[in-house]
This record gives sequence, C-alpha cells and structure tokens, in this order.
Amino acid sequence: MARIGVPRALLYYNYFPAWKKYFEELGAEIVLSDRTTKKILDSGIKVAVDETCLPVKLFYGHVDNLREKNVDYLFIPRIVSVEKKRYLCPKFLGLPNMVKNLMPDLPPIIDFKKDLSKKSKDFYLDLYDLGKKFTGNYFKIYMAYKKAMKELKNYRQHLLKGYTPAECLDQKDKSHSSEKSNINIAVLGHSYNLNDPYISMDIYGKLNKMGVNVVTSEMLPESVYHEGIKNLRKDIFWTFGKEIMGSAYYLLDNDMVDGVVVVVSFGCGPDSLIGEIIERTYKRKREKPLLFLTLDEHTGEAGVLTRLEAFIDMVKFKKSA
Ligand code: SF4
Repeated sequence: MARIGVPRALLYYNYFPAWKKYFEELGAEIVLSDRTTKKILDSGIKVAVDETCLPVKLFYGHVDNLREKNVDYLFIPRIVSVEKKRYLCPKFLGLPNMVKNLMPDLPPIIDFKKDLSKKSKDFYLDLYDLGKKFTGNYFKIYMAYKKAMKELKNYRQHLLKGYTPAECLDQKDKSHSSEKSNINIAVLGHSYNLNDPYISMDIYGKLNKMGVNVVTSEMLPESVYHEGIKNLRKDIFWTFGKEIMGSAYYLLDNDMVDGVVVVVSFGCGPDSLIGEIIERTYKRKREKPLLFLTLDEHTGEAGVLTRLEAFIDMVKFKKSA
C-alpha cells in the first residue's frame, strides 16, 4: 500500500477530508506530519528565503517532518484557482517547485494541479492522471472523486454549524458555545493561520476564556462573502481576500458582531492590501472596534494576549456605553 505524506499546513485546513477520502478510496494510506512545534517551524525557517511568509515557512517545516515518516510520496498540490475569475496567491501555484528546489532528497512529489479558472475538462484529465498512479480502473478513480466531494461537503456543513476546522479535523467537541456571552467577535484571516494553535497562539482558546463568542469566515455560507463585497468599486481578485473582506463587511453591515480581529501574516502581499482596505473603510465609516494582529516567527504570546485583553475590554466598554 502506497504511503502518502500530507503536510499539516496551508490548504490542509480547507481540503484535507477530500484528499484523504480520494487517496484512501484508491487504496493508499495517508500519513500526516506532526502538529506544529517550535522544532517544525525552525526547520522550515532554516530552508526558506528571508522574504517568505510565515505559513509557507511552516509548510516547509511540515514537509521536513514527513522525511522521518518513511512515506512513498508527498502530496503537494499546485492550486491555482478554486473558482472562476479568482485566484490563490502565487505561492500556492509554485509550492511544489519551491519545495523541490529548497529541499533536496525528498520522496517523489505528487503535484496535482487544480485550476478552475480553466475549462473543467482539464481538471478532470488531471484528476485521472493523478488516480492512474494508484489504479488503472477509471471508474474507481471517478468514484473516489465523487466520494471525496461528498466528504468535503459534509466537512463544510460542520463548519457552518459553528465548528472550527481544527475541531472537525481532530474530531473534537465544540470548544465554544453560542450561548456563552452576548459579545460576538469576528476573527478573520487565513484558515491556516487561525487554525494552527501554535501559529495563532491559540487565539480562539484565548477569546473563549475571555468569555466572548468567536465568529469566523468558515461559519458563514459562501453567499455572504459575495453579499459583503458587492458594493466595492472593483472586484477582489484573490479568493481568500474575498472571504476575509466579504465576511468583515457583511458582519458589520448587518450588525452581527461587536468587534473584528484581523490576523495577517508578515510578508504577505495579498494581506497587506486587503488589510489596508479593511482598515481604511473602518476608519471612514464604521463604529466597531477593529484589531490588527500581524504574525511572524518573532511574535510573542504575551504581547498577543495583552492586545487581545485590551481590545476585549474596549469592546465591552463600548457595548455597555
Ligand atoms: S496569501 Fe499571504 S500568507 Fe498566504 S501563502 Fe500567500 S503570501 Fe503567504
């Protein structure tokens, strides 16, 4: 049975249930990298060039962690676009090449390409090419894909019920309750930053302990993102940018939250633009408190906790006033 290593980073939080189902249906075994630790992050930092953003450095660290696990392949997809007319950041497009060039002596990389901005026929051909590594049975490949899509749908339905990706992927109970508090805080940012407790310094846990309800983009249906950005003069080119901005504007326009925390990565081009637009719009016409947290490998937990506490105090004060 082929063993396929999957790094527990980047799009793992968006698509892992589908990847797992697809490969398992084709008879392969999935091997995940360990949970993020300082050692994993440091090994990624060691190989990355300085300008690389934190989540990509961490991804390298997880790839390195898989070296010790005796896998036959590494699954590092090349995700260009997951919807028409919008794209993921170029780092996702070049991820397999960057890994190959920076990290020699790795197991063979499966770099399946997903580009839904092109004709869907190309996507299906790539999908069959991927499946052919494990079986010559086209029907089996097709059924594996169908089952994977069903798994992804179930996963997203769980997220809409208020579970976080980490809770679903680890099959844990919901750690927060919507009845806990009358204060709702939106925490917006890339799923791979927010849901890795080491990188986010357990931001959800910290906010829960402060007695507030956390709302994230994943808990909102896709239609909300489009509704949120419908009044922008220019459409948003980035899929993740659309999710972050659409959620921020929708939640505020509909008075659904008492404050917003935006988490961005240092060195992220798309984040710097999206963050700037959100901040300017807030300053111009919004009355809700907004906190920007920028993460990099030097961010200290004490500093994050202090800023969060001060922010929540301000939200509570504003609400009571
Ligand atoms: S969107 Fe930003 S944080 Fe995410 S991979 Fe691209 S540069 Fe890095």
